[in-house]
Amino acid sequence: MLELVRKYVRWLHTGWPAGTVEPLPEVASDGSTAVPGLYVVGDLSGVPLLKLAADGGARVVQRIGADPKFAAGREHGAVDVAILGASVAGMAAALEARKAGLTFVVLEANEPFSTLVNFPARKPIFLYPTSLKPAGELALTADVKEALVDELREQTRDIEVKRARAERVERVGGALEVVLEGGEHVRAQRVVVAIGRSGAYRKLGAPGEELPHVFNRLHDPADYAGKDVLVVGGGDTALETAAALAGGGARVTLSYRGAEFSRAKPESVAALQAQANVRVLLESKVTRIEGDAVELTTSAGAAERVPAEVVFPMLGREPPLDFFRRSGVPIRGEWRTSTKLSFAAFVAFCAFLYLWKADKFKAAFDARGWFPYGMGAGLKSWAASASDPASFLGALAITLNEPGFYYSLAYCVCVVLFGFARMRKRPTPYVRVQTWCLMAIQVVPLFLLPYLALPLAGHNGAFDDGWGKGLADALFPSAGYGHGREYWRAFGLVLAWPLFIWNVFTSEPLWAWLAISLVQTFVLIPLIVWRWGKGAYCSWICSCGALAETLGDAYRTKMPHGPRWNRLNVVGQVVLVLAFAIFALRAFAWSWPESAVGRVFASAAGALTSGYYHVVDLGLAGIVGVGFYFWFSGRVWCRFACPLAALMHVYARFSRFRIFADKKKCISCNVCTSVCHQGIDVMAFANKGKPLEDPECVRCSACVQMCPTGVLEFGQLDPASGRELGRDKLLATTSKD
Ligand SMILES: Cc1cc2nc3c(=O)[nH]c(=O)nc-3n(C[C@H](O)[C@H](O)[C@H](O)COP(=O)(O)OP(=O)(O)OC[C@H]3O[C@@H](n4cnc5c(N)ncnc54)[C@H](O)[C@@H]3O)c2cc1C
Ligand code: SF4
Ligand code: SF4
Repeated sequence: MLELVRKYVRWLHTGWPAGTVEPLPEVASDGSTAVPGLYVVGDLSGVPLLKLAADGGARVVQRIGADPKFAAGREHGAVDVAILGASVAGMAAALEARKAGLTFVVLEANEPFSTLVNFPARKPIFLYPTSLKPAGELALTADVKEALVDELREQTRDIEVKRARAERVERVGGALEVVLEGGEHVRAQRVVVAIGRSGAYRKLGAPGEELPHVFNRLHDPADYAGKDVLVVGGGDTALETAAALAGGGARVTLSYRGAEFSRAKPESVAALQAQANVRVLLESKVTRIEGDAVELTTSAGAAERVPAEVVFPMLGREPPLDFFRRSGVPIRGEWRTSTKLSFAAFVAFCAFLYLWKADKFKAAFDARGWFPYGMGAGLKSWAASASDPASFLGALAITLNEPGFYYSLAYCVCVVLFGFARMRKRPTPYVRVQTWCLMAIQVVPLFLLPYLALPLAGHNGAFDDGWGKGLADALFPSAGYGHGREYWRAFGLVLAWPLFIWNVFTSEPLWAWLAISLVQTFVLIPLIVWRWGKGAYCSWICSCGALAETLGDAYRTKMPHGPRWNRLNVVGQVVLVLAFAIFALRAFAWSWPESAVGRVFASAAGALTSGYYHVVDLGLAGIVGVGFYFWFSGRVWCRFACPLAALMHVYARFSRFRIFADKKKCISCNVCTSVCHQGIDVMAFANKGKPLEDPECVRCSACVQMCPTGVLEFGQLDPASGRELGRDKLLATTSKD
């Protein structure tokens, strides 16, 4: 039995790739940070590409120049812009500052373009995205390292560079001060940080790593001709180093812990494969480095000694996170004391909000005339027509006493305001249509209909006789509170069981709702998931998705990734099993209401429904789902616990929906994975050219839209044959490369 459950969980959730996202400083898409006036460009903003570094450097200075606050705050004794790092991003910024007539200083810890100068000799240069012409004046055309460095030096000959290492940035009065190694300060209105990935080299963690024949940089491959060399790593730098060494005449062994080179560009893999004298050891791990050999464990688990006169661990560099910590710029995923306190305070606020909304404080608040219970009376004393429930103000006066009305109103305002912000930030046809759809569903059937339209119709006699009465009796039974009928059940027209349980978990069966719910959950939703994927409901219809894609859009990178978190995806399956169990008890109790067993089942179902409501609806969907928004992204509830999503995950395993990837264009930058607020390792599919089929995908389109090289596209395939059926016409990207 346990083995069966394990297989099921693997089939649904834990069998998918689960790569993580590297911590980087928190930088907005315009380069700004939490420190006003401090901008980050180049590699540190997420994508390690020369063209994007040049583009980002120039654009950030254009934005600074256009900022009215900048012009108003200029002060004597401070330069307009201090640029940290004199490489591609920094020099592009400097050229733009000069063009705009700004005063500036460029501070460089080593020599200008030191990252590129340290590329291996004759390293080929790939200029992606091919169709991008970077903003600004810095041109990039060369296809080999030496020519690239020459052309960049030539274009920036007359930019003065001060040799200094920046230690941190701090605010003093109305400007920023860059504190240099040695204590000197440089005062500036704005600071552009373009220091690249200049942190420490990543370590192997094996004894012998400190020996003198272990290097992190290759200068000239010819120096190692005829030698036994071990290169460690599976990224572009490791593969390019191994290929260059083999081309220079060395006997190369390449050790990589992964089962395949999923993070390297196809060009780097091809360059490696073109070399005859490279031995590749996949799934191997270096355990010790000695004078002329290295010990490693192979994929079979056996120990092997490999001759190695020189060792190159090429594992990349850490980003210089300490620089940002010292400067007060938050790091993605890092929690400070203030983060913990604000998180705890917001969760406490959400606990209060959801208990208040659930009328848990009604007795105490009502007795004191506290909000919102005295609002209806207030409106009546203000406007005479509010005493007539058949008038708009009269219906409103009754609705105004319901906490849920204000909650839904605030929800709608958030979805609409942040919906417009989303459309401005992501101007694609897909996002436009999707956001309008979400806003319309949120405002009309989930707000105006239950709180105003249905009550007004009821008070005006629409449900007093004839078919109107029949319909209302079936859907909105009489109630001894509010408007006299349970119009709130109309939420069930959009929110299907088991997300919305109240039309199904009733003591007496509500046949009309049972029919609607069964058709929604077991006919309509499976059909749309089969055709368009689970996101057709989660990101186009559902109110939880509406808030997550609008208010939550700015927090999507906060969703944690990795295998540990993927295991938590199973929580939704547990909630789903519970929902089915309660439904079974209810159905039994409805069928044999007079029997002793039926009565026991009815009371067990009642107790379980109440528990389910408090733990799942109030606790997980409300307090955790919204309370965790700004720290773990807006999709915590959707990804981990929603029982309807859990059911749709099963449907999605048979869906035609896929995200297709053009493997040749993928530069393994991991941007797609980092913006996925369902925790999916998108890159692991994309750089292998595999259509993405992780059922967690909610079709938000952020990965497609953010990919810098236009790799991804929505489409369909035939699951049985694996044949592609076509790509979506509604474009989720602004440009194609
Ligand atoms: C081996 C390798 C191969 C690559 N191949 C390609 C390729 O083929 N195509 C491609 O598009 N991209 C490639 N890249 C990526 C490309 O090099 C980077 O995207 C680009 O260099 C980023 O430019 P940058 O200005 O952000 O940072 P960098 O070029 O890294 O420059 C940062 C500068 O800041 C300076 N600095 C660091 N700390 C401080 C400090 N505290 N104070 C002052 N100055 C400081 C450094 O000395 C350096 O000069 C490669 C990268 C590597 C490592
Ligand atoms: S698909 Fe795009 S965003 Fe994702 S790793 Fe590849 S290039 Fe980067
Ligand atoms: S569309 Fe992309 S970013 Fe959005 S959920 Fe699916 S994989 Fe994640």
